[in-house]
Amino acid sequence: MRKKNEIVPLTITGMTADGNGVGRIDGETVFVSRTAIGDRLQCRIVKALPTYAFGIIESLEEPSPDRAEPDCPVYAACGGCAFRHITYGAECAVKQQVVEDAFVRIGGLKPEFLPILGCDTPAGYRNKAQYPVGSQNGQAVCGFYAKRSHRIVPCMNCPLQPPLFGELLEAAMRLIQDMGIAPYEEQQGTGLLRHLYLRQGYHSGELMLCFVVTRPARKQLMPLCEALKARFPQLTSLCMNVNPARTNVILGKHTETLLGADVIQDAMCGIRLQLSPHAFYQVNTAQAERLYGIAAEFAQLTGNETLLDLYCGAGTIGLSMAHRVKKLIGVEIIPQAVENARKNAAANGIANADFFCGDAGKIAQRLAERGESPDVIVVDPPRKGCDQATINAVAQMAPRRIVMISCNPATAARDCALLDKLGYRTNQVRALDMFPRTGHVECVVLLSQLPDEHIDIDIDLDEFDLTSAECKATYDEIKEYVLEHSGLKVSSLYISQIKRKLGLEVGVNYNKAKNKDSRVPNCPKEKENAIVDALKHFKMI
Ligand code: SAH
Repeated sequence: MRKKNEIVPLTITGMTADGNGVGRIDGETVFVSRTAIGDRLQCRIVKALPTYAFGIIESLEEPSPDRAEPDCPVYAACGGCAFRHITYGAECAVKQQVVEDAFVRIGGLKPEFLPILGCDTPAGYRNKAQYPVGSQNGQAVCGFYAKRSHRIVPCMNCPLQPPLFGELLEAAMRLIQDMGIAPYEEQQGTGLLRHLYLRQGYHSGELMLCFVVTRPARKQLMPLCEALKARFPQLTSLCMNVNPARTNVILGKHTETLLGADVIQDAMCGIRLQLSPHAFYQVNTAQAERLYGIAAEFAQLTGNETLLDLYCGAGTIGLSMAHRVKKLIGVEIIPQAVENARKNAAANGIANADFFCGDAGKIAQRLAERGESPDVIVVDPPRKGCDQATINAVAQMAPRRIVMISCNPATAARDCALLDKLGYRTNQVRALDMFPRTGHVECVVLLSQLPDEHIDIDIDLDEFDLTSAECKATYDEIKEYVLEHSGLKVSSLYISQIKRKLGLEVGVNYNKAKNKDSRVPNCPKEKENAIVDALKHFKMI
């Protein structure tokens, strides 16, 4: 075990999903944040545990060629990004490895790994941002929380967001300060403005600004809305969400439109969508469209299938494939999202879709009991993955293929391993970078039903006594009688053939050929006569 403050030489040989470098010394693993594969450093141990330790860079002796100058002034303080100190290419390589390790090590699976699909534009890709508002030294500030804390790191020009978000924020914060709108004081639970929430349609350009406030404040916010709208014509929806609770959850239940429309419009994979602040919507539209493209490829739809889309959110995945299936069923737990999904279906003239609101496992179970047998099931669960009930119900419905989409490779690998036990092989895994520069990676998995293990083989059933478990006495007695009185050996198959011939009761599939092509020997006449004698003797005929 290492000692705190000990300085050790270290070479970084791997990276974790959240951007920490990993090196080994004397068989012990040391995690060092903000390092890169290939770095040679002197490392100061800051926390030592029996089998691993955490360290910081004491001095960087030879920097890795993967290193890049972080292009964000708050990278060190903010908890949003994990990979800004390495090139985007190196980040993609790490993410590919993270996904592969999860399936191999956690899942114990050996699928084919397709190369990660990186993002063409790793900057400004987000269509949504939620900035906490607070005060520092008497000034209203907004930005992001520091890692594992609620301390606001002021930042208005986050490089993950489109530049327009920064311009709008700067204008809004100036007005908020000038108009004396009180920022929320989280510690005391006082003040008015908790969050500024921005969402923009990637294709439409329509922009929504939602003020998350502790109490209704329409009157106070209206002049702010009007001033912003005059300056930013893209603002098609300004609304207020009231969240009085002292909680980490950003949005409260009640939302009111202040100016413009209640929703913004956008499109994804050619499906027109309406988005409210509550609706789940993939934050990187361009990559989400590619993700759905891979999912559709894996689903191999021909137009005759029933497709079940579990954890469907506003229905986007299923709706993007609706024209390629006979029937689409979506399941989602948030009522507003289900409402959005139904509206989205109607607005796109999609008439073959049904959406159910409820827990994926419970509804899937009910669908299975109702005899629903989808050909393909898409599952796109939240980070914690599917629960056992959902996995069981999915397997019970016996789809030919399952397409799993996940933002957490570890739980995806676990769930694939569970499905493996239930007859589904994990064939292909494709990582896709939906969240460049951050410690998150998405993956799409194709699982296929294993071929039916049942194969027809021609065997001489004479060798088997298939009856022994069911009616040993009777068949054995017959065999014994036949042997004793005619010296012939007869099989259970022959006995059942003769019984059937004589109209006696035998089990439905008892000693019948599995299908018409299987070869089943016929009882020779001599043996038939001997069996008939035995049956007479036992007064069965
Ligand atoms: N497939 C959608 C949404 C995926 S996010 C899309 O691509 O846009 C995961 C979704 O699962 C969220 O909408 C969340 O509300 C929903 N969800 C979470 N737990 C659930 C559960 N137990 N049953 C059904 N849906 C659930």
